[in-house]
Amino acid sequence: KILLTTVFDHLRNQLQGIAITVQDVTREMELNEAKSHFISNVSHELRTPLFNIKSFIETLYEYGHSLSEEQKRDFLETANKETDRLTRLVNDVLDISRLESGKPYPLTPTALSAVVEQTLRAHRLTAKDKEIYLSAVMEPDLPDVIGHYDLLLQVLANLVGNALKFTPAGGHVILWAYPWAGRVRVEVSDTGIGIPSEHQDAIFGRFFRVENRVHTLEGTGLGLSIVQNILQKHHTDIQLLSEVGIGSSFWFDLDQA
Ligand code: ADP
Repeated sequence: KILLTTVFDHLRNQLQGIAITVQDVTREMELNEAKSHFISNVSHELRTPLFNIKSFIETLYEYGHSLSEEQKRDFLETANKETDRLTRLVNDVLDISRLESGKPYPLTPTALSAVVEQTLRAHRLTAKDKEIYLSAVMEPDLPDVIGHYDLLLQVLANLVGNALKFTPAGGHVILWAYPWAGRVRVEVSDTGIGIPSEHQDAIFGRFFRVENRVHTLEGTGLGLSIVQNILQKHHTDIQLLSEVGIGSSFWFDLDQA
């Protein structure tokens, strides 16, 4: 961007010269582009469930009298699921905008074991319903870490949520926490369907979901990008090892308190 500014001498009432400022706005333009891309993706993602819900309501309203009880229940059930999907999307988008708002997230000494235990408690029922063995393996004297309790809880919730979603009945999901190379390593491993190697980078992008999977519609495709964003605030990054049909393992290292 080139800015031209005239320098005017008001006392003598005459033009003294022209100042030229050259500003590199490439980064600004890239950010704007990413933002509008995100907004158009969000709008598209919101429109689909909204359209479905509206169609179901209209059908029930206009043709309800000629539908069987079972058909009506099916319609309502699907509309209810679509409403849940909308709620998840709105929550994820709100999380992202909060994370990117510049609001400070102070990092303080945090009891990682408490974060792990709370994550376990929150997912115990889902694991039981899906007949998946969910457990944690932690060192008895695990050091505290430098982090943000609620954000770390969200990271583990997203990782364990995914692990449970993509692991069939009878499988295992394990949360590990142990000292590693002067830091503390946190790992979520599962014996699920795995991620094809060609998608292993893309899954961290926004709205990316591996197609043709049973649970494609359950997700928003935003979970892992939220995880990555939170971990950046913790000066660390997420790592992944996964093999189709064997399982996946996601891990990251945190500074000790
Ligand atoms: P969501 O789970 O909401 O779709 P994510 O960003 O959390 O979005 O994940 C993106 C995609 O990565 C998922 O749709 C899924 O295809 C794949 N994925 C994530 N975690 C796992 C896992 N533990 N096992 C298999 N696939 C996974």
